[in-house]
Amino acid sequence: MRFDVISIFPEFFAALQLSLVGKAQEKGILDIGIHNLRDFTSDIHRTVDDTPCGGGAGMVMKADIWGKAIDSILAENSGLRPVLAIPTPGGKQLKQADCHRLAKSSQVIVACGRYEGIDARVAQYYRQNSQVEVFEYSLGDYVLNGGEVAAVALIEAVARLVPGMVGNPESLTEESYSAAGLLEYPVYTRPLEFRGLAVPEVLLSGNHQKVRQWRREQALRKTAQLRPDLIRALAREQLEKDDLRQLAAAGWFLAADSEKYPHLQQIEFRPARLEEAKKLADFAAQTFPDACPPGMRPDSIASFIAENLSESCFRAYLNDETRRVLVACTDAGEIAAYSLVIIPRAAGVANIEEGAPVDFVVDGIPREGPLLYLSKLYLGKPWRGSGLCQQFLKAVLADAAAQCREWPEPYIWLGTNQTNKRAQRAYKKVGFLLSGQRVFFVGDESNKDITMVRRLNMKN
Ligand code: SAM
Repeated sequence: MRFDVISIFPEFFAALQLSLVGKAQEKGILDIGIHNLRDFTSDIHRTVDDTPCGGGAGMVMKADIWGKAIDSILAENSGLRPVLAIPTPGGKQLKQADCHRLAKSSQVIVACGRYEGIDARVAQYYRQNSQVEVFEYSLGDYVLNGGEVAAVALIEAVARLVPGMVGNPESLTEESYSAAGLLEYPVYTRPLEFRGLAVPEVLLSGNHQKVRQWRREQALRKTAQLRPDLIRALAREQLEKDDLRQLAAAGWFLAADSEKYPHLQQIEFRPARLEEAKKLADFAAQTFPDACPPGMRPDSIASFIAENLSESCFRAYLNDETRRVLVACTDAGEIAAYSLVIIPRAAGVANIEEGAPVDFVVDGIPREGPLLYLSKLYLGKPWRGSGLCQQFLKAVLADAAAQCREWPEPYIWLGTNQTNKRAQRAYKKVGFLLSGQRVFFVGDESNKDITMVRRLNMKN
């Protein structure tokens, strides 16, 4: 592979004689030509710039000089279509994928601007020339004095992907921005203790399976924290079951509906807002029928929705100090789940008339404080099996606990249809215990619910 760099500071590129890029040139894997733009001038002052047309500060690099320099390099071209890479703050931000693509080309010519940049017609002219691919790129959203640093950055990033450059090609596959689409896990070496900081034990265990697992987890955690855009871009096929579990704990979920949600979604848990009453009512009207046992009459379901889940009902809930409504919301503001917890203002009991387990004692620790009621917790269909239910439930319990800090031992209870085993399993997983039964009316149809209860201040 060949790079040709054109600059008014050819000395800048002495750095390319060092390290891997230097060695690759010695071995003949890479060929790098450095050209002084001033060699293509014909005046005594070797002028490469002029004042900007239209006025203004600074100087602009002349198109005619650049044209001569680029043409002279193209004239020596072996015939394959070279890339003319032009660093500019206005270019496309250089990504690893661009570097992979460039590493497949046989020649990259880098045109390093200075001053206010290169006359725009240079890129325009060569873009019209089908023998050259023009690639205007930026290192990031900041302005350098010249394109030389950007040229070195591009050469290093592209060259290390050229076969034969990096001794162990495996070190490329695990790197940040590689096919895995994640940032690399943290790395360590001896000494094992540095100023009180130890190397994570798992890395010294000799258990390769565990080390691999730990690294994958760390890479996911780091990427979720620092680069949510990369998590959002992950393809479904790249994700293992364990990954999904870990990402769910970090607030990322994969919906079952892969057409509507092809990628992971970041879901935020927060108190619902008054202006969301209509959205909540629509969502509740959709999710309530799904949770009803088979055979329930549509008119019973409709009357329950009208009486309990209308927009005005949600307005009232949201204005009521004793009710806490939480939502799980996608980036796009869609509701994926909601909950409603009733919190008695004093050490009272919420919804005793519905069969609250007032005297139930959990783990031999009697209730001291209010008995809260988890009145509603509904999940949108696409999110079933995504791990959202568990995470949301945990968040709802933590939020309820935060509302009851002044009480030593509050409890929380709920009722769920006796046939709904999936819901019962989910509640059991976060520590709810079976406490009894109640009758629950949907319209004029009575249903048998089981009731469940747990201490609020226990670990989820
Ligand atoms: N007037 C230009 C502007 O505001 O976009 C900035 C010109 S800059 C001072 C001079 C040269 O530095 C550019 O022509 C380009 O070659 C290089 N340069 C500056 N910032 C860069 C960046 N973020 N990425 C790549 N090249 C950059």
